Amino acid sequence: MTDFAIAYAPSRFPNEIYETEVKRDLYKCINCGTCAKVCPFGVHERKPGYNRISKPVSYLCIGTSCEDKPFYCVSHCHRKALSVEKSTNYRTIGDYRWTRDLILGTWKQAETGIPLKGRRYQIGNSGGGFDRIFFNFPNEDVKDAITEEAISTEIDLNKREGKKISIKVPFYGGGMSFGSVNLLVMLARAKAARTAGTFTCTGEGGFPEELKAFDECMITQVATGLFGVSEDTIKRVKIVEFKYAQGAKPGLGGHLLGDKVTPEVACMREAVPGTSLFSPFPFHSVYSVEDHKKHVDWIKEINPDAIVSVKVSTPTDVDMAAVGSYYAGAHISHIDGSYGGTGAAPEIAKKNISMPIEYAIPKVHEFLKEEGILFMWHGNA
Ligand code: SF4
Ligand code: SF4
Repeated sequence: MTDFAIAYAPSRFPNEIYETEVKRDLYKCINCGTCAKVCPFGVHERKPGYNRISKPVSYLCIGTSCEDKPFYCVSHCHRKALSVEKSTNYRTIGDYRWTRDLILGTWKQAETGIPLKGRRYQIGNSGGGFDRIFFNFPNEDVKDAITEEAISTEIDLNKREGKKISIKVPFYGGGMSFGSVNLLVMLARAKAARTAGTFTCTGEGGFPEELKAFDECMITQVATGLFGVSEDTIKRVKIVEFKYAQGAKPGLGGHLLGDKVTPEVACMREAVPGTSLFSPFPFHSVYSVEDHKKHVDWIKEINPDAIVSVKVSTPTDVDMAAVGSYYAGAHISHIDGSYGGTGAAPEIAKKNISMPIEYAIPKVHEFLKEEGILFMWHGNA
């Protein structure tokens, strides 16, 4: 392992993505230097010892909001050599859900820690989506009577008999494996989960020792590749999650690119550094509810105190999968809608295969009700 060298993948975008592109027409420009003098953001620069003005550093430009400023370079250029417009990258990225502003804002904040000015990067076209929670009160009188103490967002995770675990907020940190993210990210997620009174999941790929201090808020995952799965780590946690599929790419398994399989990641996954790792679909030992039950029983045998969660994606028969999980003895039926995923999921899979979670939840809910299961789960709660 010592003579191994990792080849890092080049950035997907060779230049930083920026919203505004500043263009200088070299046929018109006479390198007078006025623009370098007026722009307070350093977009134009004449390097010491050079007669020519350097290529504009577009990502520093504040964009069209500059138009009414006294230092607007376009107005100052008497040769009309400058133009300021939306960049090609900016115009081509994004879709209805992940708008260009959302992508750009997230990118910028990841690099600098500083959010873009304004609010548009925060909510996209969803108008908030799941980022905001609204409460529907039966009538206005009750709403007025609500106090902070009167609202609880706590959720019981197990409605069967047995161990009770609840989370203080109605969300948890979905699985992100060691390899897809590094240790610092995993530690940050664990700290955030503990602070919020919820859980976060290791994803497939092992449970680094450095997370031991956070065992009480960690979920460890057993996925189809069984990477990094050990009885020791299963014993450490309160919740064990079986991952049958990811919402963004049901039926396609998992894939960790070879460049991400560093010596540390490879060691944790008992694999060879630099080699792409594939998690198959499905579990090769599970083709029926009975097989599934053996899996669930295996975890209960290793850690009788843990509750078992079963994560499935949302094909059209997701309701059958949820019922099967119930009869196999799972405590949590975890439904991962089509948005649930992963940068490694092919675009065509993300957008076309499984059902959005908004459709899947009512479908599963109704089916469980018809089967009498929802009644039993609630009855036991
Ligand atoms: S002000 Fe116009 S002409 Fe002068 S250096 Fe800038 S772009 Fe060129
Ligand atoms: S538009 Fe404003 S910020 Fe952008 S390069 Fe010109 S002067 Fe600088």
